[in-house]
Amino acid sequence: MTTRRPKANEVYWENPPALARYRSTWAEEYPDLASGLVTVEETRYGPVVGSHRVEIPKDNRKFVDCSNEFCYGGGYDVQKLIGGLYRERKTEGDDLKKCLGSEGSPKGRRRTGPCMHIFHATAQLTYREDQPSPLPG
Ligand SMILES: [Zn+2]
Repeated sequence: MTTRRPKANEVYWENPPALARYRSTWAEEYPDLASGLVTVEETRYGPVVGSHRVEIPKDNRKFVDCSNEFCYGGGYDVQKLIGGLYRERKTEGDDLKKCLGSEGSPKGRRRTGPCMHIFHATAQLTYREDQPSPLPG
């Protein structure tokens, strides 16, 4: 029986100061974003060990959590992907990232090594086209 390690959503959500942006809603953060669908496939040394889906705006998770039971603070940063696409107003994109967490003690004080889970994300976004733009002057 292993002690459960908190994952990215809990760790980042509960330790705000510099990370306050993770607590805001999608609409607050990206007002022109109408909707989004992010699917993330999680692999460990090749084989797929998990799949995740974040539907924006109804799902306000900014991370998908790692499924490795020994991983502390692990997951994939969905907001970073969305933010990058949003700034360039792209409607789709993909990403490949190593897990944010590391294997170690249950409270994260002692680390024994990186978590080797890999996240393969694809995102599709739609924007509010009918947003009235204020006229200058
Ligand atoms: Zn992990």
